[in-house]
Amino acid sequence: MKTCYLLLGSNIEPREKYLYNAVSAIEEKLLLKLCSGIYETEAWQMAAGTNSFLNTVVKVETDMSALELLEFTQQVERLAKRADKKKNTSRTLDLDILLYGDEVIETPKLSIPHPRMHLRRFTLVPLCEIAADVIHPTLHQAIGELLNQCTDICEVRPYAATI
Ligand code: ADP
Ligand code: MG
Repeated sequence: MKTCYLLLGSNIEPREKYLYNAVSAIEEKLLLKLCSGIYETEAWQMAAGTNSFLNTVVKVETDMSALELLEFTQQVERLAKRADKKKNTSRTLDLDILLYGDEVIETPKLSIPHPRMHLRRFTLVPLCEIAADVIHPTLHQAIGELLNQCTDICEVRPYAATI
């Protein structure tokens, strides 16, 4: 069994419902251990007027390989009818694998730990709520320390205590 952390994000209404439906799909196939609260962040590096994002992080356990897990998360994204696959655009659901145990994976399809997780407050704030003491496998620092050092200035507001 691997312990994994997944980041869920949505900036198209109904945002909360997209997150909730994704958690339900996750619960069907993976062992759901913890969920962070929901946080809201203004859209980052996107066109003015882009809807703000809701994000939440879940801790799961699974026997799936990392690639199987990626296939599963992409299937859940498709369920949310994520139409536009371009980066940095609005999306009904974005589902990223942040950590897969303490493994380091670098393939064309998959980079784990997620290469930008330590640069983004919208990822670190919810992750820190449920994994403050987990050590990042390449930076060798705890998630809480990475959050303290993060220079991202985006404001991440608590939106709902639970999903
Ligand atoms: P982003 O999440 O950066 O906004 P996308 O969700 O469109 O962008 O991701 C595009 C691709 O990123 C996916 O097709 C997937 O193969 C790749 N990818 C690489 N590493 C990861 C990861 N850790 N989690 C999810 N997708 C990843
Ligand atoms: Mg993604």
